[in-house]
Amino acid sequence: MEYRFGNSKKVKELGLTCDLTCPKCTKKVNFSVFSNSESRLNADFPFVKSGNVYILVCPECSSVFTVDENKAKTFKKGEKLAIGNFDLKEPKAFEV
Ligand SMILES: [Zn+2]
Repeated sequence: MEYRFGNSKKVKELGLTCDLTCPKCTKKVNFSVFSNSESRLNADFPFVKSGNVYILVCPECSSVFTVDENKAKTFKKGEKLAIGNFDLKEPKAFEV
């Protein structure tokens, strides 16, 4: 499965999470965290409609998850533990 993040210049990499277990491949990984403030990125990327979007990508299986904005903001301040396993959310299904 391929995910596009639109204009890569506007995607910020925020760093890596602490060790989390990927819900998809069940491996212990450090997810890469990205943010984007575009209101619209790409038709393939359903949850980018407004405000900031935070995206976590599993380095093993490339699954994509999202987290609450307030969790991601805390993470951004350097609190790596702000994002835990229970915070991973499946991206919403594509809406036309
Ligand atoms: Zn995985």
